[in-house]
Amino acid sequence: MTQATLAAPTSPFDFADFDRYVMGTYARFPIAIDRGKGCRLWDSTGREYLDFVAGIATCTLGHAHPVMIEALSEQIHQLHHVSNLYYLPAQGALAKWLVEHSCGDKVFFCNSGAEANEAAIKLARKYAHQNLGISDPVILSAHSSFHGRTLATITATGQPKYQKHFTPLPTGFDYIPYNDLAGFHSVLNQYRDRVCAILLEPLQGEGGVCPGDRDYFQALRSVCDEQGMLLILDEVQAGMGRSGKLWGYENLGIEPDIFTTAKGLGGGFPIGAMVCKAKCDVFAPGDHASTFGGNPLACHTALKVCETIVNQNLLAQVQARGEQLRQGLAKIAAEFPHHIEQVRGWGLIQGLVLRQDSPLTARDIVQSCIEQGLLLVPAGVKVVRFVPPLIVEATEIDQALDRVRQSLLTALK
Ligand SMILES: *Cc1c(COP(=O)(O)O)cnc(C)c1O
Repeated sequence: MTQATLAAPTSPFDFADFDRYVMGTYARFPIAIDRGKGCRLWDSTGREYLDFVAGIATCTLGHAHPVMIEALSEQIHQLHHVSNLYYLPAQGALAKWLVEHSCGDKVFFCNSGAEANEAAIKLARKYAHQNLGISDPVILSAHSSFHGRTLATITATGQPKYQKHFTPLPTGFDYIPYNDLAGFHSVLNQYRDRVCAILLEPLQGEGGVCPGDRDYFQALRSVCDEQGMLLILDEVQAGMGRSGKLWGYENLGIEPDIFTTAKGLGGGFPIGAMVCKAKCDVFAPGDHASTFGGNPLACHTALKVCETIVNQNLLAQVQARGEQLRQGLAKIAAEFPHHIEQVRGWGLIQGLVLRQDSPLTARDIVQSCIEQGLLLVPAGVKVVRFVPPLIVEATEIDQALDRVRQSLLTALK
């Protein structure tokens, strides 16, 4: 290589300058990510990491995947945004794919998970007023849930830490215990005919990687059918193939009336969607909208991500790699019984659950893994979450497991 083709030495990343201008809404880890390829990332010093965060369960096809590069390039050359005043072929094509690959009939597009849940909350309320004759509807969601950061979705989120500082919160929400049928009935009985919908994650992601219980969800489905309430599933994290099935609800043997998706849908390009059954398709023109929602760039990219999941048989991959990851983590758990309580999850969303009486926190382990060259993300104080790209390879899982083991040995030294 000649001198001229060498990249100019870059100045070291200025963390203090970043903090001077960007709001401190995150407790950021002190590395600056510069580029990515597949399941690997490189920081501003050139150091390589295995990425088992995937933009928080988002980069379905990893980084710089040829399908995404081609989809985004194609569409940016043709048309990127015009609003929903007109018919958009790319939006129609993605809606058709989602309907043909789910239990739903109609789709509304937006840009994020919180917005998709916000749309579902509004749809359920209109359905309550118009079809159920409830003037003061209540939506039940679960303790330890996570549904987003808008005012309505932090209210639906059953974790006080996301709500404190932001009162007054919207009314019309209350909480049920997750996977506890008796607890659900006792809350339902307090409201009787005011409950219009139950909003749940098929697997609680942020709340600690806690899979839903089949019997609980099937019982709730029956109660909803008997009483006319809607069952809304937040598939923002567990959906789009991450669980080893395309939708988390397929692991529970039920179908929701409404479900939401976002994170993995665009493979890391921002897009969200709410999908509903025909019976609750009650929005009329003017009821709800989003300027950017369903723009051609997002929809074309998401469609190519969706098609790749099917074409490359990624669901079988997720099941095999998920099982490999689960077994490897279970082996590590057995090696550190005083610190690790259990491993739980579905497919490629797995949680390493620390014992309450261990001095270690999830953040300690994440920190220690960064030093080993592995990126992970906590799900609460005591759970370390593993959500690699769905294209992760067997050798990469083995390498990640080695690094987790090393980081535990180091953290406990
Ligand atoms: C991340 C997440 C959301 C919020 O999605 P945003 O795109 O950050 O608004 C909602 N629900 C669940 C289950 C999530 O994991």
